[in-house]
Amino acid sequence: MFPASFQYHRAASVKDALGMLQQFGDDAKLLSGGHSLLPMMKLRLAQPTHLVDIAGVAELSGVREEGGKIVIGGATIHDNVASNQIVRNKLGLLAEVASAIGDIQVRNRGTIGGSLAHSDPAADYPAGVLALEGEIKLESSSGSRVVKAQDFFVDLLTTAIKPGEILTGVSFTPHPARTGFAYLKHRQPASGFAIVGIAAMVTLDAKGNCERVRVGVTGLGAKAFRPAAVESALAGKKPDTGAIGTAAAHAADGIDPLSDIHASADFRSELARVYTRRAIQQAIARIKT
Ligand SMILES: Cc1cc2nc3c(=O)[nH]c(=O)nc-3n(C[C@H](O)[C@H](O)[C@H](O)COP(=O)(O)OP(=O)(O)OC[C@H]3O[C@@H](n4cnc5c(N)ncnc54)[C@H](O)[C@@H]3O)c2cc1C
Repeated sequence: MFPASFQYHRAASVKDALGMLQQFGDDAKLLSGGHSLLPMMKLRLAQPTHLVDIAGVAELSGVREEGGKIVIGGATIHDNVASNQIVRNKLGLLAEVASAIGDIQVRNRGTIGGSLAHSDPAADYPAGVLALEGEIKLESSSGSRVVKAQDFFVDLLTTAIKPGEILTGVSFTPHPARTGFAYLKHRQPASGFAIVGIAAMVTLDAKGNCERVRVGVTGLGAKAFRPAAVESALAGKKPDTGAIGTAAAHAADGIDPLSDIHASADFRSELARVYTRRAIQQAIARIKT
């Protein structure tokens, strides 16, 4: 299968890429790992006439600490997120999510910026970035802005990114003390995509009650989301089996579940409830007090 013809441009810097996006307008698309865009081009679901390759832009790749935050460049490949020592030590949930993506070939090409920008309803990163309350930096020729994860995912394959913008990085607050996390997913066996994936992060107070519970759900609906009723049901409570089960029962509340050849809407909803319970339990079991 071949895509329609296009012109390929390799950007040397963010400024260079932004200039090309401005020059080619609606005819251009950014190319990062190409693991979502190229399949879409081969299926003729996307037919850009100009591809602006940002994979080699050094300033877009890597992990750095800045003002107490951990910043991941938009073109950082999944494997580099999964194996980075800063991420593993201070942002374990994100490392766990990145290491669950696809297989080693996918993790060696696909990038965090590409995954978030594509916003596949079954992608893993959105669940983690929501639970971690990540902040997404978007740059254009006229300046930059930061969008909270909660406001970034708009609908199926649709995000807050506007034409001419590049997702240059995502920043996160490191896990606080007394925090545990888990990312659990029911995998589509061929691709590894999440039929349902749950990222959970729990912080306990000094008395062992839930100070902060954050959950990100992917795979269930058209876009990833945080189930507010699950989080609020546990706030301030002792996280015993009963309380976790009661909270997790709300994981699919208010969502119009996807249904396809891999899983019916009812099965997906049940998976969301079961995996939410398990992910919260695992997160709590990992807390070092
Ligand atoms: C066989 C296979 C299995 C996979 N399994 C999984 C899985 O289990 N879990 C999972 O989450 N994903 C999976 N993926 C998807 C993979 O993670 C992709 O790499 C990812 O979704 C897209 O990242 P990319 O860097 O390849 O983006 P690309 O394909 O290059 O781009 C995707 C879209 O994002 C835009 N874009 C790219 N970078 C930016 C940027 N910095 N700023 C603004 N827009 C940008 C592009 O223009 C394009 O529209 C799989 C893919 C394949 C081929």
